[in-house]
Amino acid sequence: MGELSNIKFTTPEYDEIIPSTGETVKVKPFKVGDEKTLMIAAESKDQKQIINALRNVVNKCIVEDVNLAYFDYEYLFLKLRAKSVGEVSTIMATCDDTECGHKNKIDLDLESVKISEVEDIDPVIKLTDDVAIKMKHMPIDEAGKIDGTKDFITALSKSISQVINGDEVVNIDKSNEAELVKTISDWPTTITSKIKPWFDNIPRAYYDVEFTCGKCGNANSRKLEGLENFF
Ligand SMILES: [Zn+2]
Repeated sequence: MGELSNIKFTTPEYDEIIPSTGETVKVKPFKVGDEKTLMIAAESKDQKQIINALRNVVNKCIVEDVNLAYFDYEYLFLKLRAKSVGEVSTIMATCDDTECGHKNKIDLDLESVKISEVEDIDPVIKLTDDVAIKMKHMPIDEAGKIDGTKDFITALSKSISQVINGDEVVNIDKSNEAELVKTISDWPTTITSKIKPWFDNIPRAYYDVEFTCGKCGNANSRKLEGLENFF
């Protein structure tokens, strides 16, 4: 071991809340290498690469072993970023006035990020009189592989924990996942409107931004969602 690798930095640990469970966990800030991983992912603009970097970095910062939903990662990432890099992130926001379109430089206080309040909806969705499905939050490993807007069937299949057919309850796992995907292809399209409220109701990390345009004076307000806004 060289002398340099003997240098130890004490890393402060602090408490953070996991939104999906309300549990408190101990976390520690990003390190320089983590910040680099995140910047490379952000520059790639590739959703899968961003999600994978996010998962790896956030997992390293959580001292305990916990199970997290995707929105937990978003939220914890923004909180960790606030503590690690500084509490302010600068973004460029275009004025809402279409004739103006001026790009304003806005400072966001990352400590003010919130999780959207969602209804406590029943995870069991009745598709017909006999058939129902029980939903679960997609694990981040899966979220990193799927583009839900383009591949609804895969996104849905990864979000189902049980299929209930009359008295029969089928638990979905690796062994019958492929069969489920095939089955969903044959479901009537009318079921999508029954499932949509569940997907619409998944919590997201968000930030309310209000700013006065520096060029035309227009009062702008918008809700920023999605990590790409914060890199
Ligand atoms: Zn303007």
